[in-house]
Amino acid sequence: MDIPFWSKEIETLDRASLQAIQLERLRDMVSWALKTPFYSKKLSYVGIRSPEDIRDLRDLERIPFTTKDDLRRSFPKGLLAVEMTEVVRIHSSSGTTGIPTVIYYTRDDVDRWTDLLARSIVATGASAQDIFQNMMSYGLFTGGLGLHYGAERVGMAVIPIGGGNTKRQIQTMKDFETTVLHVTPSYLLHIHSQFEAEGVKAGDLALRRAFIGAEPHSENTRRKIDDLLHIQAFNSYGLSELNGPGVAFECVCRKDMHLWEDAYVVEIIDPATGRSVEDGQEGEVVLTNLIRRAMPILRYRTRDLAFLHPEPCECGRTHRRLSRILGRTDDMLIINGVNVFPSQIEEKIMKVPEVATNYQIHVDKKGALDRLTVKVEIYPKLFLGDVAKLEALRARIREELRSSIVISPNVELHEPGSLPVSEGKAKRVVDERPKD
Ligand code: AMP
Ligand code: ZN
Repeated sequence: MDIPFWSKEIETLDRASLQAIQLERLRDMVSWALKTPFYSKKLSYVGIRSPEDIRDLRDLERIPFTTKDDLRRSFPKGLLAVEMTEVVRIHSSSGTTGIPTVIYYTRDDVDRWTDLLARSIVATGASAQDIFQNMMSYGLFTGGLGLHYGAERVGMAVIPIGGGNTKRQIQTMKDFETTVLHVTPSYLLHIHSQFEAEGVKAGDLALRRAFIGAEPHSENTRRKIDDLLHIQAFNSYGLSELNGPGVAFECVCRKDMHLWEDAYVVEIIDPATGRSVEDGQEGEVVLTNLIRRAMPILRYRTRDLAFLHPEPCECGRTHRRLSRILGRTDDMLIINGVNVFPSQIEEKIMKVPEVATNYQIHVDKKGALDRLTVKVEIYPKLFLGDVAKLEALRARIREELRSSIVISPNVELHEPGSLPVSEGKAKRVVDERPKD
């Protein structure tokens, strides 16, 4: 097999040299972290007051974990390590309680991140010959701009179409003879379901590859995508706290994702004890960013469950491979690639005076797409009110929810006492999406 590389030397570096780079960069990151109010406190507490206190990689374990709550509590600038004048990019994601998390990048940070994406793209066999249709949403979400920059660096012809508008997506694939897509797996399957209506057959298009990510999916879903679209789909993993996409990406072997270990230190821990598990064992992914100075993040608990492959990949890369994401340790739902916490929904609906006490969050699939329905009980006297008023209430709740969770759910109004009540812990979320 012909194995393409973007930076062959670093991608195939022996493990000892790779670890030497990690140590050097970790020290650098600690020196930046110490400039932030958040880490200077946290690190001095465990006796780390200068980069020299990190003598080898095992010292990483002395550093306490960082959580999403820490990020929220330090909003907006508690983790900023540089002057605002050094910052060239800000990304942000909506939070569970309305407090967002924010990520800052200097010009060099964006440059190093872009390089990881160029490396990831080339590892799949894509190249400057390709026409790249970037169907991930642009804006505060890192998926759109992240891959956009990486694809331009590789020299691909980039179409920054963003998400949605299926008709236009299909027309664009035809018009520009798109060869590579970047998209969530659920949206790609939805697009395929519209091919017939648009008079297109998969074989007529020039498509060859898709980078799929932002949401969990199984090997069967990948195969289905391959077969239905006559392409090869590659799994892509990342999260905004660690820059965005480009943390781990599949190579041409498509046997799980190389996690770029010169840029991130990965640990897999037992979520209950916080201790590292062996390669091959499932646990929570914990990541340290080695390449972002504007906002250092050390030992971030991603809440994603996965394992590392103990054996090397056939492609010759020495960076270990991360399995598919097998689940989450928290209750975060991923609806068509958008992260939604049940607490965000509760927070909004409980503020609506007409809403009584019981509600249920229901998730299923309609065709290829996820569908979110929020069922709420309202007070009886309102239920007897006129239809127009009920419709207005429904629309108001929907709009309230949209402003918080970004997507627009279906809202159903129910009579009090009509939704199931559980005797123990309330079961607020019913997720009926098929596992495959
Ligand atoms: P965000 O910070 O909005 O980019 O969301 C990051 C989260 O999306 C991760 O922590 C994962 O839970 C999920 N995610 C991203 N990529 C994948 C993937 N390839 N497979 C499964 N889940 C993913
Ligand atoms: Zn490989």
